[in-house]
Amino acid sequence: MAKRDYYEVLGVSKKANADEIKKSFRNKARHLHPDNKESGDEAAFKELAEAYEVLSDDNQRATYDRYGHEGVKNTTRGFDNMDFSNLAGFGIDDLIDMFFGGGVRTGRQGGPEQGSHLRYELQIDFMEAVFGVEKKISIRRLEDCTTCSGSGATPGSEIKQCTTCAGMGQVQQVFNSFFGQSIRVTACPTCQGVGQQIEKPCRECRGEGLLRQNREFDLKIPAGIESGSRVRMTAAGDKGKRGGPFGDLFVVVGVREHETFIRDGLTIHVKQPISFSMAALGGDLLVETVNGKKLVKVPAGTQAGSTVVLKELGVPRLNNPTRRGDQVVHLIVETPTKLSSEEKKLLDKLAELRGESLHVSKEEIENLKAEAKAAQEAESAGKVEDKPKKPEASTNGENSPSEHKEDHSIFEKIGEFFKPRHGEHEAK
Ligand SMILES: [Zn+2]
Ligand SMILES: [Zn+2]
Repeated sequence: MAKRDYYEVLGVSKKANADEIKKSFRNKARHLHPDNKESGDEAAFKELAEAYEVLSDDNQRATYDRYGHEGVKNTTRGFDNMDFSNLAGFGIDDLIDMFFGGGVRTGRQGGPEQGSHLRYELQIDFMEAVFGVEKKISIRRLEDCTTCSGSGATPGSEIKQCTTCAGMGQVQQVFNSFFGQSIRVTACPTCQGVGQQIEKPCRECRGEGLLRQNREFDLKIPAGIESGSRVRMTAAGDKGKRGGPFGDLFVVVGVREHETFIRDGLTIHVKQPISFSMAALGGDLLVETVNGKKLVKVPAGTQAGSTVVLKELGVPRLNNPTRRGDQVVHLIVETPTKLSSEEKKLLDKLAELRGESLHVSKEEIENLKAEAKAAQEAESAGKVEDKPKKPEASTNGENSPSEHKEDHSIFEKIGEFFKPRHGEHEAK
C-alpha cells in the first residue's frame, strides 16, 4: 500500500509551524487513542505517530520535503513493533512525552549517523528518455579523510575515551513523570555523542574525519522515464561521520523537448502537414517516428485536424518496456499559396464544377449597405432598439467576465488540438 503524505496524515498544510503540527497531532492522537472505544485505531495511530516523528523534527522534515518518504525511510522508528494495547490507560500528553520527550529514544543517539542525501540534476534528450540511456555523473561528496582514515585524529596521536560519558556517547537523566520515574537519554554534550575526545585533530580534515571528493557514478536511466522523475542511488551521497553509512544520491532527471515529437505520457504526437489535394484525394506519405520513417495512408476526404494513430510507436512503459504507447499523427491541411495563373484557372474551374460561389453577389452587398444606412438614420433619430447591445465595460478598467470566458475557451481549443480524438483512423 502506498504511504500517505505525512502532512495529509496530520491534517496540516506544508507551511504549518511546529505548534500547529503538535496541536493537530494531539487532537488526532486523542481520537485514535486505544482508550477511545469507538474511534481507537491501531494502524491509524501508528501512521500518525510516524508522521509526527518526522514532521516534528526540523532536519527530518526538511529531508522529507525534498525527498519524500524515500528520504526518511531509514530514520523513522518502526512503530509496527509498538504494542498498542500497552498504551491504554496513558493520557495522550504522557504518550507524547514518552514517544518524543527522549525517554524511550534509544539506539539513534551516540552511534555513527548516516551522511546527508545529495541531489543532482541531470538533463537528457527526448530520445534518451524514450529508449533509456547510461550516463556518467560526477559529484562532489564527503568521504572519509584518507590521512586519518576518518577518525579525525592526527595519525599516531591518542584518541581518549570521553570522561563525561565514559565513552558511552550518551548521558542519562532521571526525571519523574506521570507514570513514575523515567530516564531521559541525550547525546553527551562534551563529545557530541562520539564517546571519544581527540587530542590532536587531523590537519587535513580539521578533525572532521571527512573531506569533499570528486566521484563518478554510472547511472542507468530506464526507457520511458518522465521529466521530473527522481532516481535514487543508494549510498552515493555523503559519508557519515566516524564510520557512519553513506547517504543516498537523488538524481532528478529533466528531459529536453524535441523539435518534432510532443510527449503526453506514453503517447507521442506529431504534426504532419499534407497538401490540399492529398486531403481531398487521399494518398500516402512517410511520417517521422521515434523508430524512423513509417508509411501512413491518408484517406480521401481528410478534414483539417484529423488524426492517424500508429500503434505501439509511442513511449515504452517504465519498467515494462515491451508495452508501448501510440504515436498520434495530426494531419494539418495546408492551403496552397503563391498560385500560378494555370493553378488559379484550375481551382476556379473546380469551384465552378462544384457550384461553389467565391464571392457575395452585388445584390446582397447593396442590401447590406441599405440596412446599415437605415440603422444609422434610426440612431441619429434617437431610436436604438434594433441595435444589439455591446458588452458593458466595467468601471475598474478590467475586462468584462464574458470576455475572459471567451479567451479561456480559445486556449482550451488549442490544447484540445493535440489530444487524441475518438474515431481516429488507424494505420496498419
Ligand atoms: Zn583527517
Ligand atoms: Zn562524551
